[in-house]
Amino acid sequence: MKPPERLTVPTCIGCWSMRLLADCQPDCVEQKLELVHTEAHDELVREAAEAQALLAALAEVARWLDTASTGQSEPAYRAAQAIARAALRAHPARAAEETAESEPPLVRTAWWCPECGSVESSEECLGICVWRPLEWVSLSVHRELEQQVSGQRERVARARALLAQLAHTTPRPGHWEESRALLGAHAGALLADG
Ligand SMILES: [Zn+2]
Ligand SMILES: [Zn+2]
Repeated sequence: MKPPERLTVPTCIGCWSMRLLADCQPDCVEQKLELVHTEAHDELVREAAEAQALLAALAEVARWLDTASTGQSEPAYRAAQAIARAALRAHPARAAEETAESEPPLVRTAWWCPECGSVESSEECLGICVWRPLEWVSLSVHRELEQQVSGQRERVARARALLAQLAHTTPRPGHWEESRALLGAHAGALLADG
């Protein structure tokens, strides 16, 4: 059995002891599990989905801005603008304090038995243990996603800025072609950069 990537374990919210007992046999072996709480991980999952959506919108915008034939710049620009507006509405920029580097999540170590699936970690409790089923994610899964998300963070910020520029700028009459070509070139360059 492979170590679980995500699991729910009865956990004491006071001391973080974990106890998911199964029918362990004397010859069962224990394997170290490093876990982070699912809340920290799901924030990364959300950020990864947002990055994917913004980059997909950028690619779609680039297609519209790139393929406009002469004289069709205005409808092409307007179509691209509608895509940019929808993407930004679905994924509004967050407040500065939310995007600030968050604390690294606490890593908890538990012992897992691949034979019977029991999970256990005993901490010294200061009071009476209060057990709740908490969801945990494997640290390696978390780290992998973290690397992926942080690796494209800057590019996503540039994509967002370009989408915002397109969403908020409507060219003056006679300047559709100029604006289409300019933003199209920027979008193309940003996509090629990836
Ligand atoms: Zn066991
Ligand atoms: Zn406790």
